[in-house]
Amino acid sequence: MGATARVPFDKGEIETLGYAISISEEIISDHYKLSTSQWKRYRYDIQSLRDLEEFEIIDEAFAQIHRYARSPHHKLRGSEAADYFKICLQDHVIRHAVQRDRSIDLLPLATYIATHELIHVVRFAKFIQRFDTSFSEREAEEARVHALTHHMLCNRKIQGLQAVLAAFKDCRTMETFTGMI
Ligand SMILES: [Zn+2]
Repeated sequence: MGATARVPFDKGEIETLGYAISISEEIISDHYKLSTSQWKRYRYDIQSLRDLEEFEIIDEAFAQIHRYARSPHHKLRGSEAADYFKICLQDHVIRHAVQRDRSIDLLPLATYIATHELIHVVRFAKFIQRFDTSFSEREAEEARVHALTHHMLCNRKIQGLQAVLAAFKDCRTMETFTGMI
């Protein structure tokens, strides 16, 4: 994706991103039939560049999913163990994709990325997919998550979404994964 300056989203872009995330969370809870309380049990955050640590920033993908042993928000009861997933959005890489292609807008692209990353998180949390896995299994999972993202979004009325679905349906640089083994 080339080097681009690591400039965080501005106020307008953050607003658009917030809207994209709320659309994505609604789509995911509809699809997986999650109640509000079930949904809250999924320990994740979606954060953008201004809230990332230096080591959470990359230039090669739209996002990085960090798995941590503990959430900064949740007090664990007793010996309850729960992974916490931090979806680290890379504003500069996302902006670069929007600037590179006039048919790609931020709202549909951010919705595609947030939905895709949340599908990964739900599948890890439900143990449908292991976090630590082989390269070939990772590739197969990536194809499944792209297909699910497409399935969940294809009927949504969001301006510019069809162009995003066509352009990113088998994008190889959606995210990287890192965290405790
Ligand atoms: Zn992915």
